[in-house]
Amino acid sequence: MAEQVKRTTCSYCSVGCNLDITIREDETLSLKPNKEYPVNEGFCCVKGFHLLVPFQSSERGTAPLLRQKNGDYKTVDWDEAYQKFADGFKSIIAEHGPESVAFLSTGQMPMEEMALLGSAAKFGMGWIHGDGNTRQCMATAAVAYKQSFGFDAPPFCYEDFELSDLLIFIGANPVINHPIIWNHVKKNTRNPFIIVIDPRMTETAEQASLHLAVNPKSDLALLYGIARVLIEKEWLDNAFIEQHTEDFEIFRSHVMGIPLEEAGKKTGLGVDAIYSLAERIHQAKAPSFWWTMGVNQSHQATRTAQGIINLALMTGNIGKPGTGANSITGQANAMGSRLYSNTTSLLGGHSFTSENDRKKIAGILQIPVERIPDKNSLPYNKILEQVRDGFIKGLWIIATNPAHSWINKTEFFDSLKQLDFLVVQDLFPGTETAQCADLFLPAAGSAEKSGTFINSERRIGIVQKVKNPPGKAKSDFDIFLGIAEAWGCGDMFVKWSDPEAVFRILQQISRGQPCDISGIQGYKMIIDRLGIQWPYPQNAGAECDGLHRRLFADGRFYTPTGRAKFLFDDFAELPENTDSEYPLVLITGRGSVMQFHTQTRTGKVPFIQKKTHADCYVEINSEDAEALGLTTESRVRVTSRRGSVEVNAIISGSLCPGQVFMPMHYQETNWLTMPSFDPYSGEPAYKYAAVNLKAV
Ligand code: SF4
Repeated sequence: MAEQVKRTTCSYCSVGCNLDITIREDETLSLKPNKEYPVNEGFCCVKGFHLLVPFQSSERGTAPLLRQKNGDYKTVDWDEAYQKFADGFKSIIAEHGPESVAFLSTGQMPMEEMALLGSAAKFGMGWIHGDGNTRQCMATAAVAYKQSFGFDAPPFCYEDFELSDLLIFIGANPVINHPIIWNHVKKNTRNPFIIVIDPRMTETAEQASLHLAVNPKSDLALLYGIARVLIEKEWLDNAFIEQHTEDFEIFRSHVMGIPLEEAGKKTGLGVDAIYSLAERIHQAKAPSFWWTMGVNQSHQATRTAQGIINLALMTGNIGKPGTGANSITGQANAMGSRLYSNTTSLLGGHSFTSENDRKKIAGILQIPVERIPDKNSLPYNKILEQVRDGFIKGLWIIATNPAHSWINKTEFFDSLKQLDFLVVQDLFPGTETAQCADLFLPAAGSAEKSGTFINSERRIGIVQKVKNPPGKAKSDFDIFLGIAEAWGCGDMFVKWSDPEAVFRILQQISRGQPCDISGIQGYKMIIDRLGIQWPYPQNAGAECDGLHRRLFADGRFYTPTGRAKFLFDDFAELPENTDSEYPLVLITGRGSVMQFHTQTRTGKVPFIQKKTHADCYVEINSEDAEALGLTTESRVRVTSRRGSVEVNAIISGSLCPGQVFMPMHYQETNWLTMPSFDPYSGEPAYKYAAVNLKAV
């Protein structure tokens, strides 16, 4: 058989690199980053280079597994697995009602699979509750944009990294978290000034013009302080504020009520640093603001993200090349999950609580409107609360590993014990979550199926099958159709025959929405056009032709008034404080460019395992280490008010005294984290917990 080159999108992070994979039958001959693709231009990171390795692991699930009374698993065929699934959940619903079951999914599956899952569960099986693990990373950005702009619409394109003369990264470490994005920063020929605002001297801070080591969780004070200076000095774009925003005057009163000295003290930066930061924003021709998890995973996250948005609005720095208040997404298809997973918003960014939206979707899908729930799902943290409290008794977890990644694992495991039925669908039966399952369903990996992802800059990229899944593993798409059939609602999904058919349905649904993709002529056009950013409506004009597009060039937002809103709050108390017993602040985050999240996949790549720490570690400043008698090589016990773990110590110059850092990739870390959530987005505050360290 002849060789074929298949283009696909890397399924790790939201950068969305395209890779050309040469195959012959089921054999992979080579993998190369695509040179023409405007995202990665011939580069990819180590994770992308090893994309296919985990799929070849001997630890893959190859058949459904059903737990027996004695606790052992037995292999079953798919028909039995589907029937067990349907019987298990149906009996819970019969006894406790439709709100007694829920699903938790992912930002890793193609958009078409997410849409099928959300539609089968909610329209077909009558479930109300289902959320994605995007709640753990991007919910804050989604809510912040929705409230401020009227729609979850990241305004930027990657070209803005190249066109900005002042790049301000807040709680973002793209050098290791989004490595290929950093290539765009390096391509910037305007000699840009780069500022990193982060408690740690991160890999990105090392490359910046200026690092501001702000106190943990004081970003909001800094942002309001900057806003106050901009107002006092009249460094504002009054015409933009007047024509394109609302509620600026009440925002002005709010920030003018916060003394600059208070902001200087809270942040630990002092008044002069805040003043000069505001001055730099004023003097820049094209300042841009970029944030990720340091902002999103906080107890006051949404208002912090909006503190960034407010700075862009008040200086008129949005919709123009090189500017914007820009959230860089986390997982490969987090943006697809936010818009098309039918979890917290109805398909296509519609609303479950809007009768008109429900009628529109029911009409397109030709289903009775009553099949569409008229209430929103509980968010992830509330679903788990209901599991803990015994109201939700059946849980289906798809392509995510919350027993590793969820905050405060003690409570998570206690909650799982309350369940009557847990189904886990994943590549590997050995994940911490899958090991708790009553029923395990083996799924295909991204290279074993087809569909589309949406990356950080709203670019839809293609996912193509390059090999078959092992054994009896199936694509999530086929598993969802099998479940729908066993449930008795398969007829509703006759037109959802394959991923491209679903893409066409989603196109119809998107028509007239800000994320309109109705003008795309099938998957081939996505491949030929090197990805397509939304919006791409029918009769898209010349404005949709370019390789890079940003939103809001006309100053019109998606709110009912067409104006962006200034949103703000008083400072909230920290969820917990350090004291004499727990004197150190634990910050968590990504530890290296090579590892991804819970290491479900990167942990199966021998090259990555050789190059990264095998065991969990805590980084500590040399001053604190000396006081505690620690050296690099020491074993140390890290204890929070919720748990205690033993890890290796690493003395690090990247932290200020009083702070320690642990990477998220090891199962130890979330025994310590504090279950606090942003009140608007429900996103966990992974970045702050009080701990103590003791040499072992
Ligand atoms: Fe994949 Fe992200 Fe690395 Fe690109 S930067 S190869 S999308 S992990």
